Amino acid sequence: MTTRVAIYARHSTDKQTHSTKDQIARCEAYCQNAGYVISLVFQDEAISGSSVVNRPGVSELIDAALCGYFDRVITEDLSRISRDQADMANFFRKMRYLDIGLESVSEGVINELHIGFKGTMNALYIVDLADKTRRGMIASVLKGSIPGGRTYGYDLVHRLDERQELIKGLRQINPKQASVVRQIYDQYAAGATLNYICEGLNRQGIPAPKGGLWVNTTLIGHAARKTGLLRQSLYKGVVTFNRMMYRKNPETGKRQSFIRPESDWIQVPVPELAIIAEDQFDTVQTQIEERSSLHKQRILLNQVLAAPDKPANVQKRKRQAEKRKTKTRKVSLYIFSGKLWCEDHNTPISVIRKKVYSCNSKPCQHRNIQHEVFMSAALDALRHMSVDQIKSAIDELRTVRNKLETKITKLDTRLEEARRNIRGILDGLKSRKMTPETNAYLDEHEAEVLKIKYEIDTLKKQYDPMSKIPDEEADDVLQSFNEAIAPLHDDPDNQLASSQTYLWFDRFVVKSEGKETVISIDYNWPKMLVALRAVKSAPFLSRPAVILPRQTSIQEDRA
Ligand SMILES: [Zn+2]
Repeated sequence: MTTRVAIYARHSTDKQTHSTKDQIARCEAYCQNAGYVISLVFQDEAISGSSVVNRPGVSELIDAALCGYFDRVITEDLSRISRDQADMANFFRKMRYLDIGLESVSEGVINELHIGFKGTMNALYIVDLADKTRRGMIASVLKGSIPGGRTYGYDLVHRLDERQELIKGLRQINPKQASVVRQIYDQYAAGATLNYICEGLNRQGIPAPKGGLWVNTTLIGHAARKTGLLRQSLYKGVVTFNRMMYRKNPETGKRQSFIRPESDWIQVPVPELAIIAEDQFDTVQTQIEERSSLHKQRILLNQVLAAPDKPANVQKRKRQAEKRKTKTRKVSLYIFSGKLWCEDHNTPISVIRKKVYSCNSKPCQHRNIQHEVFMSAALDALRHMSVDQIKSAIDELRTVRNKLETKITKLDTRLEEARRNIRGILDGLKSRKMTPETNAYLDEHEAEVLKIKYEIDTLKKQYDPMSKIPDEEADDVLQSFNEAIAPLHDDPDNQLASSQTYLWFDRFVVKSEGKETVISIDYNWPKMLVALRAVKSAPFLSRPAVILPRQTSIQEDRA
């Protein structure tokens, strides 16, 4: 295959260097030597300023490159492209985006080392160039025109082109705003919350991009549209366009906007406008993804929690709060703290003053009861623990376990079905584009999958601790239980023993038999058995539902 090349020469006022004619001649000789076929020759007159922007020769070269007229650019010396190191790197980057090599007579094949820049720009790819409009847009971006409105961090620049016509969309970095952008990225990357960043900016009296105060959406924008300062790809020197598509609603005549699938977006490097280093920008994108999926997860969980099983969760949260309290509490913790229950009225019995308890209903005989009365009754109940009781508890757990297992199996089937549904949709779409409608449909099914997964996880959390307990172990369990509560028989106020066993009891149900106060204990068997068998069995398994970002498999297939 022949290599088609374009020669680029630039006239310089510098007397030391060759004239454009000489430059071209040297390049021609070089090409002949290398066996290259010269397709085109581009040249620029001496132009003040080192910028590649606004050089007609370079403009034409970009146009021709986009039309695929050549595969490589030959120049006499890298300094012909630009005397400015950064500017040269920018040109190299753009050529690489167009998949065009760069070679100079004095340096040979130019690679990253000559240019001295790092970063891979993996994300960039050329889209179908058959579309003339797209090609035109890409060409004008490569020449420095940025589509779209104002962007924070940049000033619009007005300049006339070689034909003395106004070039639209030129920008240059606004140093003050750029430093604000850097501050925002640095803080976010360091883990600062959006609120924190905004408050800081507002305190510093820095006006928001549209004036007024900074708010979270200024930074993070809209998730699907990938808007917001933290997602502005221009900051890493990449223009993203062709993101939106507009359609007229035939009924209302209103123009509606839709987001195109990401694979349709066009990304073109404009390294001269980079404010943030590429790797920092990419890190921040990952952080946004992670942080927002956590957020999404929290919202989803709340939705799910708002559903039927709420009371259980309220109780669970209460218990967790109590668990936390045991670590920092100043008041003594007793095994029945907050768990006393009146059997007659089916209401809690609570503390009315120090070490005195009353049933919440009156009249009731369980009013104004001294702490010691309940404590001795409770300790008495603890003594009644027997192997049979443990065995029947294990038996009961087995039943519960089997029920949970059945439920989980059913849900697994439903989950597989829901996943099959999604796969079906994806298969059906095949080469067709994702529309907002299909996206919405997929979201719905995805939400279903997540909900089922959450239900499964909730059940598994109940199921997993109920590891199979062989009957023979009942004796061991009883022994461990007695060892654990032994300190309480000596000293009911023993804080360590109280807090270690506290979660094993759901309720201390108080009833009166004649003049005697009797307590029966509702044990939390799963908690207790797990604790007592902790050494032998696997630890409590909790598996949080993790929400993964949507796989863009269709889009990748098409790319
Ligand atoms: Zn009562």
